Amino acid sequence: MYLGLSGGIGCGKSTVAKMLFDLGAVVIDADAIAKEVLEPGQIGYENVIHKFGDGVLDTSGNIDRKKLAELVFQDAGQLSQLEEIVHPAVVARVAQIRESLPNTTTVVYDTPLLVEKQLQNQFDSVLMVFADLDIRKQRLVDRGLEMADIEARLANQVSDEQRAAVADFVIVNNGSLQELRDNVTKVWQQLSA
Ligand code: ADP
Repeated sequence: MYLGLSGGIGCGKSTVAKMLFDLGAVVIDADAIAKEVLEPGQIGYENVIHKFGDGVLDTSGNIDRKKLAELVFQDAGQLSQLEEIVHPAVVARVAQIRESLPNTTTVVYDTPLLVEKQLQNQFDSVLMVFADLDIRKQRLVDRGLEMADIEARLANQVSDEQRAAVADFVIVNNGSLQELRDNVTKVWQQLSA
């Protein structure tokens, strides 16, 4: 079983991923993989230096992600060149991880960009986490984010309707963590049925 997991920022997606892990899933964190493929020795690292030059390295020889981000976000062409490096490297790494697992394993692919990147068809099922906007904002404030940063991030999100349209399972996370855990367990049981 290959489950896509997504949701808007602050909805509780990472918390759900952790709960699925506790239930026995293998969780692949898409953001972590995208970072990993740019580490020295990984294929993305060489390709980034080849394309963008060693000006994107920090003094220890690692890719300085902030410098790289500044470079590509000013220029859509450069951004798509970076994506052409990172995307196939992530796909290859994920395939490698999945191949290393018995096919009875439930693998959860945790990505904030499932809808944006239209990944839904890759999965057997998609689980989407939702929460009301006010609750999401409050959770992010509690997590230590600045309101201006929160508003900026929220402004870049796809709509709940777009998210719901690709979901096989929906969890609304407006209640307690125990309620969330109960709902995650229900989905888990349906996945295992
Ligand atoms: P996301 O990954 O969707 O951005 P997180 O899972 O990191 O969201 O959740 C955002 C914050 O809200 C975290 O600090 C998390 O512990 C907290 N949180 C999530 N769900 C609940 C809940 N049902 N009750 C209380 N706090 C929650």
